[in-house]
Amino acid sequence: MTDETHPSGLSRRHLIAGLAAVPALTVAVSPAAAQMKSTEDEAAAARAALKDAKGTKLVILGSGGGPVPGRTRRMTSHVMVSNGAAYVLDCGLGVTNQYARTGIPFGALKSIFITHHHPDHNIEYGPLLVVGWIQGMPLSVRAFGPPPLKQMTDDLLRAYKTTIHFWAEDFKMKPLAAVEVKEISGVGPVMQDENVKVSSIVVEHPPVTPALAYRFDFKDRSIAFSGDTDPLEAGATMAKGADVLVHEAMFVPAVETYIKGQIARGRPVKLEDFMAHMKADHTPVEDVGRIAQEAGVKTLVLSHLTPAIDKLTDDKWRAAAAKAFKGDIVVAHDLTVV
Ligand SMILES: [Zn+2]
Ligand SMILES: [Zn+2]
Repeated sequence: MTDETHPSGLSRRHLIAGLAAVPALTVAVSPAAAQMKSTEDEAAAARAALKDAKGTKLVILGSGGGPVPGRTRRMTSHVMVSNGAAYVLDCGLGVTNQYARTGIPFGALKSIFITHHHPDHNIEYGPLLVVGWIQGMPLSVRAFGPPPLKQMTDDLLRAYKTTIHFWAEDFKMKPLAAVEVKEISGVGPVMQDENVKVSSIVVEHPPVTPALAYRFDFKDRSIAFSGDTDPLEAGATMAKGADVLVHEAMFVPAVETYIKGQIARGRPVKLEDFMAHMKADHTPVEDVGRIAQEAGVKTLVLSHLTPAIDKLTDDKWRAAAAKAFKGDIVVAHDLTVV
């Protein structure tokens, strides 16, 4: 007997015969392959839109709310490109890969902003720094966000010190030893450079303090981000007259259905407690429309969608926001360019 025996106890001959018996499974286009093709199309479309862009552009890198892996929508992150410089806002899981897929070089990355320290907004901050550095991110990159961003940055770089030094030694690169951090705790100016003036306000997202919203005033365009917050008048004031408002949005009946399903599968939380948390911390999409109308923005981008489930169609989100908002509404998907 020359046939090798596989650890499973099946011989290689059996395995090959078995595979040959199910050709349909191996040649049909699986849903996963179809999904891969469509996400590649999205990346190609984003790259094309950025290549032809005249002025400042915003790319939604991740449009899903909450620290939930494995969805079509990744966790929250964005990149803005203006005059060849890139500014990242929030670093949910997936930010590094999504950034790369836009075709924006890591050498363009100038500043990183964090709205608040929930994992769907900061968990990939360290990996973005380290992988970004290997890929050409300037050592002059700066980071802005609520305390303890400085301690977190120092600790992350300490954790990756050995890794960074292997690479620095091997490729004669200057090691990423430190990142300049400015901690932001309140209302007012955050930073200004040759492309943009950034300001922040404090929003309501208990028990996270402070949680921030940011406004970016580029020379040709202003973009405001709500961060995670309950419906807040201050948000409308901050976004007053902006070209674009990116606002978190929650579809309440769907959140209720979603959490009931989770509870039925054994998630240890009470429906009333979960919904009370959601109402204190997040903004129903109808309120988002009202806030955008009050702010008088041109374009409202619904993002950080909760629940981030595919069966909730763009039309449903848009119709709910359009009850109060009369401008353009974009329902964000990953790699949507605005
Ligand atoms: Zn969030
Ligand atoms: Zn949050």
